[in-house]
Amino acid sequence: MSKFWNKKINEAEPYVAGEQPKKGQKVIKLNTNENPYPPSPMARAVLRSFDVADLRLYPDTNGTEFIDAVAQAEGVKPSQVFAGNGSDEVLALCFQTFFEREENTDLSVLTPEFSYSFYPVFEKFYGIRSKKIPLREGMVVDAEDYIGVPNCGIVIANPNAPTSRSISTEDIRKICKGSPDSVVLIDEAYAEFADPYETAVSLLPECPNLAVVRTTSKSYSLAGLRVGYAIASEELIEGLKRARDSFNSYPTDRLAQKIAAAAVKDVKYHEECIKKIVKTRTYTQNELRALGFEMPDSSANFIFARPPKGIDAESLYINLRARGILVRYFKTPGINDRLRITIGTDEEMQTFIAAVKEEVSNAKDS
Ligand SMILES: *Cc1c(COP(=O)(O)O)cnc(C)c1O
Repeated sequence: MSKFWNKKINEAEPYVAGEQPKKGQKVIKLNTNENPYPPSPMARAVLRSFDVADLRLYPDTNGTEFIDAVAQAEGVKPSQVFAGNGSDEVLALCFQTFFEREENTDLSVLTPEFSYSFYPVFEKFYGIRSKKIPLREGMVVDAEDYIGVPNCGIVIANPNAPTSRSISTEDIRKICKGSPDSVVLIDEAYAEFADPYETAVSLLPECPNLAVVRTTSKSYSLAGLRVGYAIASEELIEGLKRARDSFNSYPTDRLAQKIAAAAVKDVKYHEECIKKIVKTRTYTQNELRALGFEMPDSSANFIFARPPKGIDAESLYINLRARGILVRYFKTPGINDRLRITIGTDEEMQTFIAAVKEEVSNAKDS
């Protein structure tokens, strides 16, 4: 608390990101869903050829080079793409653009009870009413639960975080059709890791109320670059630009635009990277299940696993941390019996599994 902060900042409940180890500290980092592989070699090539003198000039507001690359890849018009400084910023602008503030409506934004923990932070910060929809058995989002419920917006991460489960494009279609006067925000931060791959982008021609948000942070290995984007109807994108230009007209810089564009164009490298992670995910799930862990089949680059009876999730998190392995533990009741584990390289996951094996046998002995 500070007398120099206004009421809103004094009352804010900011998002707490997963721990970032200090430089030089040797850890296996499986706690923030980063990609263990380097970005496309094309990104390096862009850096090498980049003329520093260009930084004298402001960047292109829209990030045209990047937006054109996304539009080409997704089969939409460039005017249907919006780029921001990470998808967290794009999501923040979506909340401010599409959802009504509580003084103007009695309606709430619907989100799954357990989902990306930034959504409630945005809702509180922007004064938006919120209604949490419980998950079904097996941590499933059921489209029926979002239909016929009055709302001023719907936000669903697909695949959902931290549960790792996804819903079908057909379900999203039903949700969009069920609330034609609200914007339905689908956060596809992990979509590329689902097997088979599905994207709600295919629904855009029939769903003018749909906004799909994506990021280069996870599947493109560019979390440090901060480039996220939205794909939607021109009407929605136009709204986002109004919000952006009331806040910061240059959310993505010259270098970020060029690097992100190069990464998006390198389809082959992207696909190879995802294939490797999906394979390692299967290995990790199988190994953990053999040790008595329980988890849904993951559609993302992380798994959400409950340790076997007799092993407390929080203690396991602490013990792994002491061994230099970081995973994510949420204290939230309802999910505080699980760990969210990012898929790293094969070698990292073998080390992780060996450590878990030791922890399980230690727990049995005591
Ligand atoms: C990681 C993540 C984001 C944020 O990605 P950035 O583009 O790095 O800001 C958004 N949504 C979900 C569900 C995520 O897990």
